Amino acid sequence: MADVRLWGYKIYRICGALILVLQLSYVGLGLRCYCNQCPQMSDLPSNSCMARPNSKCFTAVTINYLEDETTESWDYGCLGDDESTLLQCKGDLVPHHVPKTIACCDSGDDCNWELTPKVVERSTTPVPEYEVPKKYENITHIALLISVTVCFVILIITVTFVYLRYRKRELEREQILEEAENETFIGTGETLHDLIEQSQSSGSGSGLPLLVQRTIAKQIHLIKSIGKGRYGEVWKGKWRGENVAVKIFFTTEEQSWFRETELYQTVLLRHDNILGFIAADIKGTGSWTQLFLITDYHENGSLYDYLKLHTLDTHEMLLLCHSASCGISHLHTEIFGTRGKPAIAHRDIKTKNILVKKNGTCCIADLGLAVRYISESSEVDIAPNTRSGTKRYMAPEVLEDRVNKNHFDAYKQADMYAFGLVVWEVARRCIIGGIAEDHALPYFDCLHSDPSFEDVRKIVCVEQIRPAIPNRWISDPYMKILTKVMIECWSPNPAARLTSLRVKKTLGKMLESIELHTKLSSQS
Ligand code: ADP
Ligand code: MG
Repeated sequence: MADVRLWGYKIYRICGALILVLQLSYVGLGLRCYCNQCPQMSDLPSNSCMARPNSKCFTAVTINYLEDETTESWDYGCLGDDESTLLQCKGDLVPHHVPKTIACCDSGDDCNWELTPKVVERSTTPVPEYEVPKKYENITHIALLISVTVCFVILIITVTFVYLRYRKRELEREQILEEAENETFIGTGETLHDLIEQSQSSGSGSGLPLLVQRTIAKQIHLIKSIGKGRYGEVWKGKWRGENVAVKIFFTTEEQSWFRETELYQTVLLRHDNILGFIAADIKGTGSWTQLFLITDYHENGSLYDYLKLHTLDTHEMLLLCHSASCGISHLHTEIFGTRGKPAIAHRDIKTKNILVKKNGTCCIADLGLAVRYISESSEVDIAPNTRSGTKRYMAPEVLEDRVNKNHFDAYKQADMYAFGLVVWEVARRCIIGGIAEDHALPYFDCLHSDPSFEDVRKIVCVEQIRPAIPNRWISDPYMKILTKVMIECWSPNPAARLTSLRVKKTLGKMLESIELHTKLSSQS
């Protein structure tokens, strides 16, 4: 038994020795590396480790970036045998952009002692920003420019829109206020005829109240120019759908505007054969003023225009002449009483200042040169303007400057001279024996279109020429009387001329006669 125990002890000792030899041979085959954090291996010298077969020694440097300093710590040791650890060794060739870098070796024991891995310090300068390529840079600029432009346009559109809305509201507000203001003076649906009727019966008899006139003037729309005179331009206009004539005076003609306006508003002047006055207004400030005179509109225009276009029968001729004489007669006649009318002389009677109404009668227009006779003081109220009458129609005493300016009858007589010439102009267009003369101005055969004062004086005063009377006129009973009327009107002696009242009566009788004659002949 003791022998068995002895042999067992011997075998145990032998196996132990074998294991040790095997252990030692195994260790003897590996690579020894220097290490500072060594694994527990009792049979190796201190600071040494054994690398696995085919493995390597390593040296690792760790960089610690602290807030105010950077430190390095060095580690040495043996690598494991897996590929991943080997890969780290490539830091030797390709430096790692990491704080830790490892270099490896297998050239001999403790080969890592002298290894110095490449340490790439973390750049303290910031990593450069991504650089936009040049071609993209241009596109960026364009895109930016477009965006800014679009934003700007949108901004402008918005501002304009807001402003226009604001203006529209303001205008609407103003319009409402204006309408409300206007309504105060003129009710809706009231016509010019209504307004004038009212003012005639309840007012002073001199025209519409001033505020009504201003309101009408403000509401007028000008349509087209219908005539030009020496003192302004006449327009066709509309007031609430009704036609009106608007005479717009040149800015320099304020005195003419004032005079004409004043005369049209003479008490009791309103008459069928005097142009119907509606309103007058003066607008503007400083150097720029607009002077309006609003009257009835007559689409036939002036007697001058009418005669150029139309020939007449005897009745039409007498209607024109008689109505014109009625107008002049009304002007010339003084109406006595507390609300009386002064006598007025026109001083510029001519076919261009007489208008033809739709019914074939005339009305006297253009009172810009008229004078009034103030009977209480026996004074002639002459216009302060420098305007003078039309030379062609001037009476001989006016041409010779023989008129006593304080003698009112002289002005009426001069009107009658001019009226004689008007009757002649009308008579020429009357068809007698199937023939009518062409329209012509008086003295057309001896004066040119714009004669001088002296030219006219020579013909009218010195040579005492008067318009020619065709023989045919004498053979017609009506024309014979009419010729007598015109000759008596243009007499060189002012006192011998017919008065407007006389002419009115004579022509009135002739008209009555022809109307009776027409009536009788239509009955038989
Ligand atoms: P001026 O003072 O400048 O001579 P007028 O009052 O004589 O102005 O008008 C000039 C012309 O305008 C007239 O000859 C006529 O042809 C036209 N006219 C004036 N008033 C009217 C009116 N109410 N209706 C139609 N035409 C008119
Ligand atoms: Mg005129």
